[in-house]
Amino acid sequence: MSEVGSEANPLRVAIIGAGPSGFYTVSNLLKHKELHVEFDMFDRLPTPFGLVRAGVAPDHQKDKSVQRAYDKSAQTANFRFYGNVEYGRDIHLDDLKRHYHQVMFTSGAPFDRNLGVPGEELVGSHSATEFVAWYNGHPDFVNHQFDLDQESVAVIGVGNVAMDVARILCKTHAELAVTDMADHALEALKNSKVKNVYILGRRGPAQAAFTPPEIKEMGEFEDADVTVLQAEATLDPESAAVLEAEGDKNAQKNVAYIEDYATREISGKSRLLTIRFLVSPTELIGEDGRVTGIKLVKNKLVKGDDGSIRPQATDEEEIIPVGLVFRSVGYLGQPLPNIPYNEKNGTIKNTGGRVETDDGSDVTGIYTAGWIKRGPTGVIGTNKTCAQETVGCMVEDLAGGLINQPEDPSVQGAQKLIESRQPEVISYSEWLRIDAEETSRGEAAGRPRVKFTDIAEMVNIAKA
Ligand code: NAP
Repeated sequence: MSEVGSEANPLRVAIIGAGPSGFYTVSNLLKHKELHVEFDMFDRLPTPFGLVRAGVAPDHQKDKSVQRAYDKSAQTANFRFYGNVEYGRDIHLDDLKRHYHQVMFTSGAPFDRNLGVPGEELVGSHSATEFVAWYNGHPDFVNHQFDLDQESVAVIGVGNVAMDVARILCKTHAELAVTDMADHALEALKNSKVKNVYILGRRGPAQAAFTPPEIKEMGEFEDADVTVLQAEATLDPESAAVLEAEGDKNAQKNVAYIEDYATREISGKSRLLTIRFLVSPTELIGEDGRVTGIKLVKNKLVKGDDGSIRPQATDEEEIIPVGLVFRSVGYLGQPLPNIPYNEKNGTIKNTGGRVETDDGSDVTGIYTAGWIKRGPTGVIGTNKTCAQETVGCMVEDLAGGLINQPEDPSVQGAQKLIESRQPEVISYSEWLRIDAEETSRGEAAGRPRVKFTDIAEMVNIAKA
């Protein structure tokens, strides 16, 4: 038998999850021109591109242009997409071991972190991830309801997801109508009665997780003012000293935007966005099972043992009346059947992308990249270097003979099995049919695309 990775005996790689990290696995492996690789990429949805489709905000179309590069990888002859096929439901680890030399898990972080405060379960309290998936037309979230008749909304956390959520709540229908936001969300937001949006950060402006372009946009709404309390915009001496000493350009720009917002006049636009700092939610207050307010404690900043600047509660409290709360305090991974999982971090157990176990059981040929490898941090491009690191391990292991030995590495063998488990499997050319239909519906409406949100409907279009 010829060597694995040769033309006669290609390396068979299965990739679980068709988001950025999945596609960066393909592009990084394609750089190894000496290797012949056959890729099979799986996704539980009929559509590829993961959070680029269902997470990146609809008014940030430029960020979605990476899809063109993913599409290029997908057009290589030795690439197959198996959409609408779920790991743990339609295919299992034993199946993958029977058909592939290497398996890469790039399944992302679909859950959200809890705050751990009383009242989190009240009606009207939602995770930001749920709202994001809803307005982006993720099929699992289409029927979620958000009470947009409420006048006041709190968004907890000052990361870029919080910025996305607040921005979507503050924009006018005209601003949103030119995006690829799901129709149901566009309609619901058109009738929104939201007037006050509060973004709540537990530390100060110098420690905020948002990035300069995102905070800049908060000052550019057609019909919403932005404000920051002067006292909360002013840096404490410790933060000012750290900012000066470390010279973090992003943090410096963030602070400058916040200082600007603190000096702006409120011009009387229809909505008001208030960005708060140094406050932590301690309770969601409710009446008849519904959120009516959020109790906050004022924080001061202290230097932790590790040198980081941490929030410390004072005894000053306040209540903001709100009828809707979005918790935007970070995504969380989901354990996968038979894959070692680190509950604390919400990641697959790994070193540099090589999956590992505590008990030393065999995980030869199993790898991971992206948020499920390192946690939900970084921008889309961060996944490129993350996948590159793992691909480096894959190539090194192949050279050292440390690969899984599949009983049937043939393309046809895997294909037959997948089709028997999921007759409604969607190929890449079938996805392109869905894509073409969505973009042509969009063109007619002056929008980038009009998304399908129902899996059965997508399958019908794909198989037409
Ligand atoms: P994130 O950047 O990690 O931000 C989480 C925020 O939640 C932080 O402000 C954090 O504050 C706060 N937080 C955590 N626990 C809290 C608690 N118990 N009480 C109050 N606040 C709490 O997460 P994310 O916003 O979900 O974004 C995930 C990743 O996607 C990030 O890397 C982000 O940049 C990226 N992303 C990028 C874009 C874009 O480029 N436009 C858009 C969306 C997402 P502390 O800092 O004090 O912990």
